[in-house]
Amino acid sequence: MLDLSRFRNRMVETQLAGRGIRDRNVLDAMREVPREAFVEPGFEEFAYEDGPLPIGAGQTISQPYIVALMIEAAEVKPGNRVLEVGAGSGYAAAVMSRIAKTVYAIERHPSLVESAQHRFGRLGYGNIDLRVGDGTRGLPEAAPFDAILVAAGGPDVPRALREQLTIGGRIVIPVGPGGGHQRLLKATRTTETDYEEEDLGAVSFVPLIGEQGWAEGGRRRA
Ligand code: SAM
Repeated sequence: MLDLSRFRNRMVETQLAGRGIRDRNVLDAMREVPREAFVEPGFEEFAYEDGPLPIGAGQTISQPYIVALMIEAAEVKPGNRVLEVGAGSGYAAAVMSRIAKTVYAIERHPSLVESAQHRFGRLGYGNIDLRVGDGTRGLPEAAPFDAILVAAGGPDVPRALREQLTIGGRIVIPVGPGGGHQRLLKATRTTETDYEEEDLGAVSFVPLIGEQGWAEGGRRRA
């Protein structure tokens, strides 16, 4: 494989640290995980550009800065059990796996899951449990989670995901009316029934499609 570590280090310094990402664990993990292994063949040379890239099935690997921002906001820490909804290429799950104890990840496209599993195997990342499914239901059998990242935009925070947080747990999710315009929302579970919400700014994500998200084609479920 190409040695792109020089470009990876530069990406971390300019796109991440240079824009205010401060969490040492996040910066180190993004210095470690080779993003070029998670893009479509032929796109490796663009892996450290400042934007999303295609990964097949009409989906994208998110911009490195957004991945770092979401993981930092979710306060992913050593020892944590984390869930990612919308694993796509597996890149964000791989980054979190360098920090957390275990990463559970769900992706609705079987072809993307197959490629991501292959990448995790090749890189020797053994603490990621990736499954095909509708992540808006969460993963009740593995809950509760210290942090949940949702990498696709929904109409609101799915109830199942809120309820699968530990007390003190954080969810970071793009929420908005659809059409690729969302606000990045962080909700922290403060008690059994209470959540504190914070708006982290404007983002643009592909739609979260599922039982507690959008219906295929973009309409909200009744
Ligand atoms: N985090 C990914 C990465 O690092 O490559 C990028 C994810 S991409 C922006 C969003 C992904 O969410 C897509 O692969 C899409 O298929 C997936 N997705 C959308 N709705 C989903 C759902 N209900 N459950 C699981 N995955 C979903």
